[in-house]
Amino acid sequence: MNGATAHSPLLRVAQVSKYFQTTVRAIHALHGVSFQVSAGEFVALLGPSGSGKSTLLRMIGGLLTPDEGQIFFRLEPLREPNAAIGYVFQRTNLMPWRTVVDNVLLPIQVEQGCVDARNRQQAGELLALVGLQGFEQSYPRQLSGGMQQRVVLARTLMQQPQLLLMDEPFGALDALTRERLNLELLRIHREHAMTVLMVTHNIAEAVFMADRVLVLSERPGRLVADLAIDLPRPRTLAMLGTEHFGHLTLAVRAQIGAVEGV
Ligand code: ADP
Ligand code: MG
Repeated sequence: MNGATAHSPLLRVAQVSKYFQTTVRAIHALHGVSFQVSAGEFVALLGPSGSGKSTLLRMIGGLLTPDEGQIFFRLEPLREPNAAIGYVFQRTNLMPWRTVVDNVLLPIQVEQGCVDARNRQQAGELLALVGLQGFEQSYPRQLSGGMQQRVVLARTLMQQPQLLLMDEPFGALDALTRERLNLELLRIHREHAMTVLMVTHNIAEAVFMADRVLVLSERPGRLVADLAIDLPRPRTLAMLGTEHFGHLTLAVRAQIGAVEGV
């Protein structure tokens, strides 16, 4: 199992703190954050704006290093981006001059220097998986925002990540498109037995998607809650109207309320 045993966590964040030095002052972004994520889990990371959610994700993505504490991936200390960790950013970053399929193939091309027929077939399959069959030869500007974010998801899945990090991936989209993409993401999570850590500041979205909701306080972000979400899977939109869903969102809200002193 790639150096990890069946019972060891895929990801372990241990007492992580982060400070940013700006020209005017030092910003204490995160303080003593610890949690673990097991293989196959879907974990939502929730917190107010500025609570360090993106900073934490960037550290797990290996793009920033903690100032205190350590992050372990498959039991190894994580010090740089790891190919088994896929990262979908808040905004799409597609190459406008490349077609959809060539955008999806880009990481493979960078890694291998070229792409083969098998890679092309896999890219086509992933585009179909995210509902973009028939758009392989389109250019990003010809697609809606939701479709562009699906291309980014297909491009990330092309690397077959064990851990998928998503930073408010559908945050810029309208509510209906977001709901549809969330359902697709749940299907991909289920069918590919992937581990997902998703940042959101939407309580209902966190509860609907996740097995566990982690709540960060206002800056400096501290982990104030780690709540299990025991809704059965597969999740359906009908669950949004159930009493149990209401109780769970209230429980999460109470943690955020405690954070804000409400
Ligand atoms: P969130 O994603 O929860 O909204 P961020 O992780 O983006 O929060 O930011 C946490 C805090 O750290 C904010 O106060 C932000 O302004 C600050 N911050 C983030 N990145 C930098 C940086 N590169 N330089 C200085 N301050 C930063
Ligand atoms: Mg952010």
